[in-house]
Amino acid sequence: MDLKFEQIAGFPKSLSETPQHFCPGCTHGVNTRLLAEAIDAMQVSETIVGVCGVGCSALLPDYLDIDMVAAPPGQALSVASGLAHEIGDSGLVFAYVGEGDLYGRGMSTLMHTAIRGEALSVFCANNLNTGMSGGHMSPTSLVGQKTASTPEGKSAVKYGIPIDFTRLLTDIPKTSFIARFKGFTAGDIKKGREYIKRSLLVQKYQRGFTFVEILGICPTNLEMPPTKAVQWVKASTSGIYPSGILKTPEMGRIQ
Ligand code: SF4
Repeated sequence: MDLKFEQIAGFPKSLSETPQHFCPGCTHGVNTRLLAEAIDAMQVSETIVGVCGVGCSALLPDYLDIDMVAAPPGQALSVASGLAHEIGDSGLVFAYVGEGDLYGRGMSTLMHTAIRGEALSVFCANNLNTGMSGGHMSPTSLVGQKTASTPEGKSAVKYGIPIDFTRLLTDIPKTSFIARFKGFTAGDIKKGREYIKRSLLVQKYQRGFTFVEILGICPTNLEMPPTKAVQWVKASTSGIYPSGILKTPEMGRIQ
């Protein structure tokens, strides 16, 4: 009997073979692979340029085998906008930034880049804390969450409630494709792979500002083993940061 084998998985060409140094259980590793798979699927490894933010995201250039630029704190989208203007239609530009960097220090830059509708794909790794500084509160840290700067738990009275920036961006007219997924559940990772690809496709053929937030796990700063961290984030963010497509160029805001 003739058996035919088809390769259904493999090592993405755009993923470098450098061993990764993310902490065990960290979702940055999953995110890096999904980016590499999307870049391979689009066959743009020679023409795409990535910009990484600070903190743990700054390790990305070591792990992706493409051209990448490191940006100063809060300014990943300024650097990415400049590159997008320079490169024009001959390539794609994406930024990969943690939420402490993008929503905290970079909030004004994020809003103005979206308002201008720069042709970029922005991927935000939202792990509910600013990992770079050792786990301080970020704009998405949950009420009651213990962080390095809120050891008693984040107080809504003192610091306000967490802001859903992904939803906020859907109200800006020049944003086009916006989605969010959890980088720690199999079903969501499958959807996320498509969201990342779609954001690059929209950038390529329809232009406009595209945005995908990846809800992630930082077991180190949550001070939990990875499996417990997954359960905690899943339960605590349910209804606060829902997964799905929030806006498309064809339908506008859908969530
Ligand atoms: S500190 Fe947190 S975000 Fe950074 S690599 Fe470790 S687990 Fe990941």
